[in-house]
Amino acid sequence: MDLCIIGSGYVGLVSGACFAEVGHTVICVDNDQRKVDMLHRGEIPIYEPGLEELVLRNVAAKRLRFTNSIEEGVDHSQVVFIAVPTPPQADGSVDLTYIERVAREIAGVLKPGQYRVVVDKSTVPVKTGEKVEATIRRYNREAELDVVSNPEFLREGCAVPDLMHPDRIVIGSSSQRATDLMKRVYEPFQAPILVTDVNSAELIKHAANSFLSLKISYINAVSAICEASGADVEMVADGIGMDRRIGRNFLNAGLGYGGSCFPKDVKAFIAISDELGVPFHLLKEVENINAGQLERFLKKVREALWVLREKRICVWGLTFKPDTDDVRNSVAIDLIQHLVKEGAHVTAYDPKGMSKAVEHHLLPAGVKLTHSALEATEGAEALILATEWKEFANQDFSKVKEAMHTPLIFDGRNLFNPKTMREFGFTYHGVGRP
Ligand code: NAD
Repeated sequence: MDLCIIGSGYVGLVSGACFAEVGHTVICVDNDQRKVDMLHRGEIPIYEPGLEELVLRNVAAKRLRFTNSIEEGVDHSQVVFIAVPTPPQADGSVDLTYIERVAREIAGVLKPGQYRVVVDKSTVPVKTGEKVEATIRRYNREAELDVVSNPEFLREGCAVPDLMHPDRIVIGSSSQRATDLMKRVYEPFQAPILVTDVNSAELIKHAANSFLSLKISYINAVSAICEASGADVEMVADGIGMDRRIGRNFLNAGLGYGGSCFPKDVKAFIAISDELGVPFHLLKEVENINAGQLERFLKKVREALWVLREKRICVWGLTFKPDTDDVRNSVAIDLIQHLVKEGAHVTAYDPKGMSKAVEHHLLPAGVKLTHSALEATEGAEALILATEWKEFANQDFSKVKEAMHTPLIFDGRNLFNPKTMREFGFTYHGVGRP
């Protein structure tokens, strides 16, 4: 099939490459000329394992191309996906200006007799599909289209396998013609397809991300009880996670959730439910627990170091999770900001996130970045693990101990084995475990 994706970011670019990989012909549109130029040169603007090979292979096979022209994309495609940002506004509600703009742009280029399925892949509040359709029809009275909701569930860091082998594909549609076309798009993926109405599909995405955030906050709240009682949250999580009704995933205690999705989607769901007159109080508590988690962790650091001013602290990890270069809304960066504010001298290292952190000016002045994890520990009076990259677990800890001024580890993701760390001679502090 001929497909167009508007927005070539984490969702749009990876979806476009995966659609091409299964045999569709895909045009990825982006209005950021710099991004389009990079892609034309064969440079991938984001880091996602396996993405580069996928893009290069499908460009070479002429199944994938890039443009800044919505007209070119819409003209050549039966199905037009929207994958542009839906950032939060100050009050937590979703800023839909990118979506509205794309709707007007599609209306401006749709020609009479050109039936198109317009698919919303961005995460949007319930009832957005209705507004997208009304907007396109308002600006183009002859438009022939159906609007479908097809939320994306990929996880950054494993976006390619997630897209190639999804747990389920949700198609929210009120038109049989559009549903049939969407099923043809997804047929090669051989994944379970759930067809719903548009509103339900939109709601599924916010409900899913809020539930995952709730699981994280739940185990984080349990971790506080473990700390107060001397129990081990890892054992507790194993014990409850072995119950198939609960499952072990997303029961990892740590610094809390961050990134470009969970915080904004929980906030959005709270705002949506408030607006509908059915406030979702439980989700407000999910947010409170999440915010408290970093505060509790910092308290531990302060207790151990007494005064943070002038202390040399090494932070491992800047990205919001491992295997990505995405530093948007990362708890690691929040943590560094707190440390610097209190006068600490921070040295940091991340395998993939340093250039984006610098490019977007996310690090406070004075933070020193190094070329390796070991180098960052030189002279440090404490090491804080903020993101659980495998590279950090695989360090030679006798060298780390040698490099540090005082062997103190704060493991914000419970990555290390406390017993092993103590055998190396470190004083070890994890989250919710002795
Ligand atoms: P992103 O910022 O990485 O990419 C968005 C892209 O859209 C950018 O390249 C931007 O230049 C482009 N863009 C903006 N306006 C445009 C326009 N008018 N025309 C053409 N291109 C335009 O964002 P993302 O992380 O891919 O997220 C996109 C959507 O998908 C959001 O709603 C997000 O919530 C949702 N989502 C994200 C993830 C994730 O893990 N990142 C997962 C599932 C869903």
